[in-house]
Amino acid sequence: MTKDIVVLGAGMVGVCTALALRQRGHAVVLVDRQAPGRETSYGNAGIIQREAVQPYAFPREWLAILRVIARQGNDVHYHPGALASLLPALARYWYESAPARYAATVTAYSALIRHCLTEHDRLIALAGAQDLVHKSGWLQAYRSASPFDQASLAATAVAQEHGLDCQILDGAALSAAEPVLHGTMAGAIHWRDPWTITDPGELVNRYTALFENEGGIIRRGDATTLMPAGAGWTVATEDGPLTAAHAVIALGPWAPALTKPLGYRFPLFVKRGYHRHYAVERMPNRPLLDAENGVVLAPMQRGLRLTTGAEFAHHDAPPTPVQLQRAERYARELLRLGAPVESTPWLGARPCVADMRPIVGGAPHHRGLWFNFGHAHQGFTLGPATARLVAELIDGDPPYIDPLPYDPIRFGS
Ligand SMILES: Cc1cc2nc3c(=O)[nH]c(=O)nc-3n(C[C@H](O)[C@H](O)[C@H](O)COP(=O)(O)OP(=O)(O)OC[C@H]3O[C@@H](n4cnc5c(N)ncnc54)[C@H](O)[C@@H]3O)c2cc1C
Repeated sequence: MTKDIVVLGAGMVGVCTALALRQRGHAVVLVDRQAPGRETSYGNAGIIQREAVQPYAFPREWLAILRVIARQGNDVHYHPGALASLLPALARYWYESAPARYAATVTAYSALIRHCLTEHDRLIALAGAQDLVHKSGWLQAYRSASPFDQASLAATAVAQEHGLDCQILDGAALSAAEPVLHGTMAGAIHWRDPWTITDPGELVNRYTALFENEGGIIRRGDATTLMPAGAGWTVATEDGPLTAAHAVIALGPWAPALTKPLGYRFPLFVKRGYHRHYAVERMPNRPLLDAENGVVLAPMQRGLRLTTGAEFAHHDAPPTPVQLQRAERYARELLRLGAPVESTPWLGARPCVADMRPIVGGAPHHRGLWFNFGHAHQGFTLGPATARLVAELIDGDPPYIDPLPYDPIRFGS
């Protein structure tokens, strides 16, 4: 039976959700306050991370925690003034990262992420987006021997357990694979399954065009105007109020603006991240993570995109791009980096949930309301996979993976 459905938020997650529902024959309107794919789904490193079976955990060793508190590394930065309000969610993040709880999350997460390539593949083919896709993996590279050796052992074990393809490259093999690098590195883990995208925002655009070609409708509007209306929902758009039997919240880091007033208290927080493009004479062949310095060097159409690690801060606090300033210095040690392309860095926010799993499923206290947000470090990867799951749940069809680990009810709200 055809349902009227409004999807709120047109990042990778919302666009894929709208598309999955439209492809199931529903009348779908996708609402965003701006053009699709202009926020987090635009600014990421563009990696479809098939290898990311282990989501980022909160460190459990005191030395690692003290290193973060002392702001010694470049992978994590924080605003001291934000910590008090972030504390409850971060405490829960720490608790969920305890070995037994984390192991359960990895089991669930790996069962989801294993579908990321097949779900993207289908959409890439339908959207004619093959020109944006590279299939030569990415490199997790190390400057010094000891962390490289440790990481290589861990990667080999993970690859064996989860059926992933990783190759350990010593310094010479890394130089041969990436002749653009000057200086010698200890080596790299070459994750060979993942795909990389040379313009993440453009991939969202192509999926959006597919959605429209298949009869989907796009409207500009403010999702926070969502209100119950009769047996369904209404939202204000520039073309007037829109009513639908079902609404899906896919607002990424802005989801709390809607879920909080509706009474849901999820342990959500953001890890902000920056990027900037630089001119280079020659691109690396694939993205490279300078693991000890928390910077990804991602070849993109606009230039070499440097992306940073996590910044714990209020979502809307003014930018403090210290990690990016250091990232630029580190990148210059690795290759010939030209001038920045943009006058100011881009700032975005990874939408994180304390138990490291997105929130996907029916709203516990509101009929016809659905959630699909909180994809943290892997929303670009997981957009099509959780879109399929929420579409199956809305239709009451057997879900293709176990939905319980993602069910909003797990927080008891
Ligand atoms: C530096 C960095 C690097 C990353 N690298 C990767 C990577 O390599 N691979 C990967 O898988 N993931 C990566 N990520 C994470 C990934 O980008 C996110 O998880 C993903 O983009 C989240 O998608 P989303 O659709 O949930 O949110 P968004 O893309 O942020 O979309 C949310 C949408 O909601 C809209 N919206 C907000 N408020 C309103 C409102 N009131 N009314 C209407 N519309 C509204 C916004 O305009 C936006 O379009 C990275 C993130 C960062 C910051």
